[in-house]
Amino acid sequence: AHVITSPCMEEKASICSEVCPVDAIQEGDKQFYIDPNTCIDCGACIIQCPVSAIFYEEEVPEDEIGYIQKNAEFFSRV
Ligand code: SF4
Repeated sequence: AHVITSPCMEEKASICSEVCPVDAIQEGDKQFYIDPNTCIDCGACIIQCPVSAIFYEEEVPEDEIGYIQKNAEFFSRV
């Protein structure tokens, strides 16, 4: 799955959620999140993000690794 990381907290641009073909991206209180069980890894959201906050899960920078869990947890709560 793809993962939204910390730069989103300052931006929350929402363009990503508009381009996602499977509606995997939802807005939370702090940032947008990607549902790992819905994302089909098309990559469309990555190029739309103005702050480069979105990564394929295996390419998430080391200091942002915790966001893999944060994205998943958001959808386990709702
Ligand atoms: Fe949606 Fe594609 Fe981004 Fe996954 S990679 S969240 S399917 S736009």
